[in-house]
Amino acid sequence: MQLQPTASHFIDGEYVEDPSGAPIDIVYPATGEVIGQVFAATPTIIERALDSAKAGQKVWAAMSGRERGRILTRAAAMIMERNHELSVLETYDTGKPYQETSAVDATSGADALEFFGGLAASLTGEHIPLGEDWVYTVREPLGVCVGIGAWNYPTQIACWKGAPALACGNAMVFKPSETTPMCALKVAEILLEAGLPKGVYNVVQGMGEVGAALVNDPRVDKVSLTGSVPTGKKVYAAAASHMKHVTMELGGKSPLIIFDDADVENAVGGAILGNFYSSGQVCSNGTRVFVQKGIKEKFIARLAERLGDAVIGDPLDEATSFGPMVSERQMNIVLGYMAKGKDEGARLVYGGERLERDGFYLAPTVFADVTDDMTIAREEIFGPVMSVLDFDTEEEVIARANATEFGLSAGVFTSDLSRGHRVIGKLEAGSCFINSYNDAPVEAPFGGVKMSGVGRENSKEAINHYSQVKSVYVRMGDVEAPF
Ligand code: NAD
Repeated sequence: MQLQPTASHFIDGEYVEDPSGAPIDIVYPATGEVIGQVFAATPTIIERALDSAKAGQKVWAAMSGRERGRILTRAAAMIMERNHELSVLETYDTGKPYQETSAVDATSGADALEFFGGLAASLTGEHIPLGEDWVYTVREPLGVCVGIGAWNYPTQIACWKGAPALACGNAMVFKPSETTPMCALKVAEILLEAGLPKGVYNVVQGMGEVGAALVNDPRVDKVSLTGSVPTGKKVYAAAASHMKHVTMELGGKSPLIIFDDADVENAVGGAILGNFYSSGQVCSNGTRVFVQKGIKEKFIARLAERLGDAVIGDPLDEATSFGPMVSERQMNIVLGYMAKGKDEGARLVYGGERLERDGFYLAPTVFADVTDDMTIAREEIFGPVMSVLDFDTEEEVIARANATEFGLSAGVFTSDLSRGHRVIGKLEAGSCFINSYNDAPVEAPFGGVKMSGVGRENSKEAINHYSQVKSVYVRMGDVEAPF
């Protein structure tokens, strides 16, 4: 399989290269080897991408929603047909095990293209009768949208931003994370092959400066970022100075609350999914696991037992269920947190170290007896580090769960249905779970409150973030003016 991309950028329906941009190595996280290289977009490349998006958007918006939808659903089908190839590529880009990538990456991208492709023909306005007069509304595209991605789900993010944007008649310029530049190029290729007009979906590579140049360009009408809170603040501020629309999908430090009456096996399963899937590099992870005192030791013992069943190894081997960190940098950040956990007095139950093998592998790690003031309980780690905290009462745990600047996700495990709904009702979070964790079907809105973000991806909600409503007052009689 050829890993080196045909060229760095995809603009106006074709691959484009400009080797005068800063080189960016593509590193396979499972071995640390350089497997390819792209060049950051130069001002000329950025100019070309925005020009092509501006022109492509006019052609695209002039098509009917049904025609647009048909192209998106065709692209969804093509992605599913090529799932194996795309999943292998995602594994090389991120290091995530094929066992995961073949199940959730390209497939969830296809889900978004299919879902928004299906909605495209139904994006209509309203008729509002006012006696003799009336108002009608038209749902219009925003224009040129910029998507900026994080490195944990490169295919999914390229599609989750692209699908609703395109369904509404916008064009997109997508900048993948510099850590994972390969997958979005494939999405662009497939969309073109499915019939997307040239210039409607462009990909440019680069670091933060390229993202910033796009966000600051007056031709851009909307910015959707998936990234960290510090980046979110900068991008939001830059967008505000031009009054651009924004969607911010940022970080989290989400609570997962397990009551004494929960099914322990399911709660352990939820905690594993919410902390160790994708080696813990998931924004919505439930990294503060509050366990009620009655079942605490039982929970921890069973958790440690099940962690022993993780198959850590070659991500391309289908049996592997736990892979490396995306980069050496991210591995070192997480190692720093593991050290802080030990220094600040948390009880290390499992893992806590780098694994002795090539690549950026860390052991899945669990700390117990974590207190609210410890660094590992306060800051987003973005790695396989679970903090187990204990609690006595429902009231207490709700207050402690909410005592954070973040508000992306929250989960509750209990066999008391009323308690499940009552507690979730009081938690300050955008994407919540009862007796489950981290499900993200395209039909459900996804996004955070507080510092975790603004706007929602997926579901019908996303349409509101990629379109605007024009209202038209129609007078049927004469105009009465005061003079
Ligand atoms: P990051 O904030 O470092 O980078 C995100 C993207 O922003 C990258 O493409 C980067 O090049 C770009 N960027 C950086 N500075 C910029 C600037 N000034 N202007 C424009 N673009 C700029 O994040 P990361 O390390 O790639 O990803 C991890 C973070 O993303 C975590 O905090 C995680 O929680 C968050 N995340 C959130 C979600 C979500 O949906 N809420 C999903 C995945 C990851």
